Amino acid sequence: MYFLQAEINVGLFGHVDHGKTTLTKAITGKWTDTHSEEIKRGISIRLGYADSDINFCPSCKKHTFEKKCSCGAETKLKRRISFIDAPGHETLMTTAISASSIIDYALLLISANEQCPQPQTKEHLMVLEAIGFEKLIIVQTKIDLVSKEKALENYKQIKEFIGQTKFKDKEIIIIPVCAFHKLNIDTIAEEIEKRWPTPKRNENDSLRIYISRSFDINKPGMEVKKLNGGVIGGSIARGIIKNGDDVVLSPGIAQKEGKVKQVTIKVNGLRAENEKLEIAKPGGLIAIGTNLDPSITKSDGMVGSVIGSKEDPPKVFKEIQIKYQILKRSDMETVSLREGEPVVINVHTATTVGVIDKLKKGTAFIILKKPIACDSGLKAAISKRIGQRWRLTALGEII
Ligand code: ZN
Repeated sequence: MYFLQAEINVGLFGHVDHGKTTLTKAITGKWTDTHSEEIKRGISIRLGYADSDINFCPSCKKHTFEKKCSCGAETKLKRRISFIDAPGHETLMTTAISASSIIDYALLLISANEQCPQPQTKEHLMVLEAIGFEKLIIVQTKIDLVSKEKALENYKQIKEFIGQTKFKDKEIIIIPVCAFHKLNIDTIAEEIEKRWPTPKRNENDSLRIYISRSFDINKPGMEVKKLNGGVIGGSIARGIIKNGDDVVLSPGIAQKEGKVKQVTIKVNGLRAENEKLEIAKPGGLIAIGTNLDPSITKSDGMVGSVIGSKEDPPKVFKEIQIKYQILKRSDMETVSLREGEPVVINVHTATTVGVIDKLKKGTAFIILKKPIACDSGLKAAISKRIGQRWRLTALGEII
């Protein structure tokens, strides 16, 4: 059966004011959909997804995000892609690190009407370097707000800035656009199609789905026997999931005395945006109907959970070890981690509080307040309290 699911996830990076939402709107026709329910305070992960189709115009021999080409011809669908965004600066950086397991490529937005690099642009690039992103397309936004000379000067600044980073040897392209008037947007479609193939996904890989939202879809006052099971949504990092599968949810469901128990759940339905799926694979946001009690899944209650197969369920940890590097930030003094201090850890879509038990040879041993499910090799972000806020302090990898 043919079904339509996004094939790649593209992360959107860049300074808060550099036009991310306007570009997303120009490409996808919609704003990225952020969390529907109340967002947990602080720096929990809140990914927004917006899917878009790349189409091919047979008469112009060009790609476009539009259904109808500017020449008037009908286009042919090439593939669907998903743009992933996180609002705010602090959240965007922690999200970049923790979502690196589901983001395939990155667009970095740099505004033409400001000196380049702005501190946030520098930090985003540093984070992209740290998580090992090789493929990057830079979009120079807001060119309509400056003169041609200024735009060219800014373009030169961007080139010089990139030249000082590890991206210098890669073939980095800078695409000037005006998202507001939809100018040159199709060049982004063209370059994505040319440069960013759908990665080979191995269906036999052990399943991992990172849960980024969960709901109760029942209306108040519904008859008990008509109630739908809880719905959870997330991105498949590897493997495939089929309608009817039995899968394991980790760390699981809260029990008495702060304990959690892994549970096997039944998949009662799969969706990608408005498409019903029989099989889902990596790409975009997947909604999974389950036999879970909807009171457990309501209000994003299962965010941060992981789904795996019964044969290889994700391991649950009460203590984790992270090999870390202190992040050099431009907006605050570089601080080190200290034994005994509380920290917030972000791994995939999980946010958890812990205390540093021990620091040894670049490894932090952290005791968690609530257990998390994860695998070694995943990227992790460590934030510590500075003043009134949790600030991203170190990047690392689960060992
Ligand atoms: Zn055309």
